[in-house]
Amino acid sequence: MRWSELKLKSRCWSRAAAGALVLCAALAAAQSAPQRFVVVLDAAHGGSDVGAKLGNQAEKNYTLALNVKLRSQLGARGITVVTTREADSVVEPDRRAEIANHAGAAACLSLHAATTGSGVHLFVSSQAAVVVDRLAPWKTAQAAWTQRSLALAGVLNSALTNAGIAVTLGRTALPGVDSMSCPAVAVEVAPEHARIAQSGAKGAANFDDAGYQMRVVKALAAALVEWREEAKNKEARQP
Ligand SMILES: [Zn+2]
Repeated sequence: MRWSELKLKSRCWSRAAAGALVLCAALAAAQSAPQRFVVVLDAAHGGSDVGAKLGNQAEKNYTLALNVKLRSQLGARGITVVTTREADSVVEPDRRAEIANHAGAAACLSLHAATTGSGVHLFVSSQAAVVVDRLAPWKTAQAAWTQRSLALAGVLNSALTNAGIAVTLGRTALPGVDSMSCPAVAVEVAPEHARIAQSGAKGAANFDDAGYQMRVVKALAAALVEWREEAKNKEARQP
């Protein structure tokens, strides 16, 4: 499947990130595999930022529940997880990036949900890839990591596809993710089938389908195990 530049007028993350320009170290050398393999799970929205309306529930609750399920699956596979929120609270995009950057994340998945489309949508920052050898502006820190983020999206795509889940790949502006100095992908879960998504309440019920959710979560966990193996092999090749 080809990457497509999508124009997402009403996408929930179109809200511009606030905050002052802060400089962060994004040394190119930091792109080598980290010593510790930590995954950051970023449950999007929270508090007064409810996100999209998914039938009877708000996206903020769905992403938090998904976060808990995925954290559990990753923990069972020996992967250390750091989360950007554990409660129904507002977490600003800059704070989410701070958490991911402080954790030295080997991967960050920003979790969203939508009633449009079907399967899982994977988004990588639309920032053009650049090599940064000194200091990167905070708002565009992800630009130094775009290639690694695309690689991570590729691994996620393979695992989801192997699990029989439709995948759509895209690039877009991602407040929060755009300031992350790590491989980062926004994972937006839609109902499994577009025809169900278009039928209102049935679409909402599909979000609560435990079997579908678990297939998504297990595929994401399998992808991150694969990502960890790649990181280990990369370390092994280093002098
Ligand atoms: Zn969202």
